[in-house]
Amino acid sequence: MDETRCLNCGENIEKDYILFINGTEYTFDSFECAVNFMAPRCTNCNSVIMGQGVHFEGEIYCTDDCAGAETYKTVVP
Ligand SMILES: [Zn+2]
Ligand SMILES: [Zn+2]
Repeated sequence: MDETRCLNCGENIEKDYILFINGTEYTFDSFECAVNFMAPRCTNCNSVIMGQGVHFEGEIYCTDDCAGAETYKTVVP
């Protein structure tokens, strides 16, 4: 029998936890792993973005503060 492993942490999946996104099957052992694997991360602080996030110049940030911090960094050498 085939083993099913979590795409995020590589753990064996005992109870099936499968997510379909655009017809592709993703397997995880927990919702936490699914979120970790799928969710976008803030360009500035690397936090998982659960909500809408802040889109700025093609990047995504968790908050306005992070978008602002990154802008400040790129402006100041
Ligand atoms: Zn996992
Ligand atoms: Zn951030």
